[in-house]
Amino acid sequence: MKKPSCKQCRAKGEKLFLKGEKCYTPKCPMAKRGLALHGKSKRRPALTTYGKQLTEKQKAKLIYGVRERQFHRYFDLADQKKGATPVILSQLLERRLDNVIFRAGFVSSRASAKKLISYGHFFLNGRRHTIPSTLVKKGDVISLNPVSLNKAPFKNIKERLEKSKPPKFLEVDSDKLTITIKEDPEVEELDLNIDFPSIVEFYSK
Ligand code: SF4
Repeated sequence: MKKPSCKQCRAKGEKLFLKGEKCYTPKCPMAKRGLALHGKSKRRPALTTYGKQLTEKQKAKLIYGVRERQFHRYFDLADQKKGATPVILSQLLERRLDNVIFRAGFVSSRASAKKLISYGHFFLNGRRHTIPSTLVKKGDVISLNPVSLNKAPFKNIKERLEKSKPPKFLEVDSDKLTITIKEDPEVEELDLNIDFPSIVEFYSK
């Protein structure tokens, strides 16, 4: 059975930001325990190279909410493309529809984006779309289903969007409630706190 989100952070010894708004408040159990953001518990033994690679892979899977089979498929896809595999892998994860909706500020976590997409609250290029793992590309436009505007998860959507700072690869129109994909994600901008080269080394053995 999957561990509750906060236990996952405790097990990894760092904040993985899995619970939306709570993660940014003093209610976060990791903050209460005085563990620094992105920090590690002092009592943790040093990891072997393999342990580090495994940990980074598990962290990425938890953060993006992706299961092993799908994650391995992303690696295979990244490995087949020309360019730096770690960068391509991170861009693939960032191009997931649930991640984009979270990054744009429509919802407070990838988990809730996943749920709300599958309930039919979003359109992709003008058509209702219910698959959270869809990889969006330059030129795609995501919009809120107009019938969802008055539903509880979107009650304060305009205020939320005014406060959010979406990454450069997304253009958010807070009046029309749309997200346009402008370019490929720039991973340097995103402060991912995941060691993608270690993940690539893990799968390349
Ligand atoms: Fe992790 Fe968020 Fe829970 Fe804090 S509140 S322990 S960051 S899931």
